Amino acid sequence: MIKVALNGYGTIGKRVANAIMLQPDMKLIGIAKTSPNYEAFVAQKMGINIYVPQESIKSFDEAGIKVAGNIEDMIKESDIVVDATPNGVGAQYKELYQKFGKNAIFQGGEKANVADVSFSSLCNYNEALGKKYIRVVSCNTTALLRTICTLNKLSKVEKVRATIVRRAADPKEVKKGPINALVPDPASVPSHHAKDVNSVLKDLDIITMAVIAPTTYMHMHLLNVTLKSQVSKEDVINQFLNTNRFLLVRGKSKVNSTAEIIEVARDLGRIRNDIPEVVIFEDSIYTMGNEVFLMYAVHQESIVVPENIDAIRASLNLASAEDSIKITNTSLNIGKGYLI
Ligand code: NAD
Repeated sequence: MIKVALNGYGTIGKRVANAIMLQPDMKLIGIAKTSPNYEAFVAQKMGINIYVPQESIKSFDEAGIKVAGNIEDMIKESDIVVDATPNGVGAQYKELYQKFGKNAIFQGGEKANVADVSFSSLCNYNEALGKKYIRVVSCNTTALLRTICTLNKLSKVEKVRATIVRRAADPKEVKKGPINALVPDPASVPSHHAKDVNSVLKDLDIITMAVIAPTTYMHMHLLNVTLKSQVSKEDVINQFLNTNRFLLVRGKSKVNSTAEIIEVARDLGRIRNDIPEVVIFEDSIYTMGNEVFLMYAVHQESIVVPENIDAIRASLNLASAEDSIKITNTSLNIGKGYLI
């Protein structure tokens, strides 16, 4: 059993922690928290070991949260650390991981140069095998890469033009906006997502534009992909229907929005209503010669979870891409086919 430590128990961290606990080949040593907030109380209730900075032990004690040790103790005890601390904080921790000789998985909020490789399970698992530091790209980039690499199996992807409608905040974030505006992010083109895709697919011709919308549920991508050869709508539909980590929504199911996708996830009893699969609106798939058009929704809170689990296996050389993806999908109930 691989001993995994989780630093940063927020939106991404708590989901990755749960996913680690579901893996047959991994054990969660514990999680690190800096403040004794509700997330720390939840972790305690779930029986997870909580590690905190040495100077915070007293405040956790006073709040009634039992502490297993300091963050260094947790890192020392682990084989690998998943860092899910806020943007830029992970890079500050790298020195500590190096000090104890531990491998680490970073998130997309860090700059690409924090790690040896930027990672997408369906694109470059093999490149990440044995790498000490791996960066799982952001939620938007993970969805773009999954989709591009899946279409690339149908016919070589020559060009991508994408418009990204970003959710303004995660549901728990009470101080973020906008609440009544659409905000170009940034107003200049291309947005940073294209560069992030190029951190994995170095030579791809890609331009992205992004706008922030006042919603918390999911992102939406509007994609135009040029392939080397002509494909039919049916080819594209079948390619996605046969690839794990994608779900299609058909028009007749009357699921017409991100809100209804999340409602379906609730109704299906999915944990935290998470949908780590890319959710494609089947009716949006349109082909014209070598061009493919499609729209899909991205659940920002959960899409990177399976990629984090695969990155752990790749870093420690524990499994081939095929085996790791299979174990991850089975343990996390990640499907393919139609959403409903
Ligand atoms: P978050 O704010 O929800 O969680 C971060 C957690 O780290 C919080 O619990 C916070 O208390 C804790 N923390 C803060 N400083 C710390 C420190 N010094 N040491 C240890 N813990 C500390 O953030 P998040 O949304 O989970 O984002 C984490 C990373 O994942 C970022 O790089 C982000 O860009 C990336 N990411 C976020 C999303 C998303 O939609 N939320 C999606 C994909 C990737």
